[in-house]
Amino acid sequence: MRKKKLMVANWKMNPGSVAEARVLFGKTKLAGGKLDKVETVMCPPFPYLGLFAHAGTTRVSLGAQDVFWANIGRATGEVSPEMLKDVGASYVIVGHSERRALGETDEMVSKKLRAVLAEGLTPIVCVGEKERDVDGKYFDILKNQIKSSLAGIRRTDFREFVIAYEPLWAIGKSAREAMTPRDIRETSIFIRKVLADMYDATTAELPVLLYGGSAEGSNTAAILRDGGVSGLLVGHASLDASGFISMLKSANSI
Ligand code: PEP
Repeated sequence: MRKKKLMVANWKMNPGSVAEARVLFGKTKLAGGKLDKVETVMCPPFPYLGLFAHAGTTRVSLGAQDVFWANIGRATGEVSPEMLKDVGASYVIVGHSERRALGETDEMVSKKLRAVLAEGLTPIVCVGEKERDVDGKYFDILKNQIKSSLAGIRRTDFREFVIAYEPLWAIGKSAREAMTPRDIRETSIFIRKVLADMYDATTAELPVLLYGGSAEGSNTAAILRDGGVSGLLVGHASLDASGFISMLKSANSI
């Protein structure tokens, strides 16, 4: 298990202005910079990335919410891995369910992952089932999604690699509706087992596993303690600086 907790703020399409983005980044960076057992990653929308170019430190890093799978080509509206690296981003979220809902396929996810790795950036690939059925079919859905999304990824790529397990049914709600630490742990074990079948037992332990889906201040500690994950991917709760800072402090105290 990774020693430092990895706390990733996915700002999604927020906040609405440069001024607010600066305040949110500044407050989070200041607090995150004081914590020695947590690495904080902030993933603002593309237009704000340049504002924080090279503002990352060893404790607070910059990440992007998406990326294109090539550095050159006719790709209106896209942003290349090379551009992200040049502004000082070190992490990139790939295959978020909200991108998948807009048409991103497992094949696109795997192309993006390979491009991100080739640029020396760390991918945070999101996987997760839409719903849970009583027969447990969601395990097969998850397994197939992991296998196809990771197509072409080699054992050695897992040295700097993050997998965020995000069950869609738990995203964007409140902590009460998040997955329980016990179920998160069960799924974490399952994800490692899928990786062990695809690669080997040692490789399966390499990627950092995160949970995402209505993580808030009230469930941070329990998930990090009992969920079998090394950190959280945080959506709505990362937009409130003081709330997110208390989550970071809670992670730091575990
Ligand atoms: C997300 O969209 O990645 C996410 C985890 O959102 P929320 O925390 O709002 O559920």
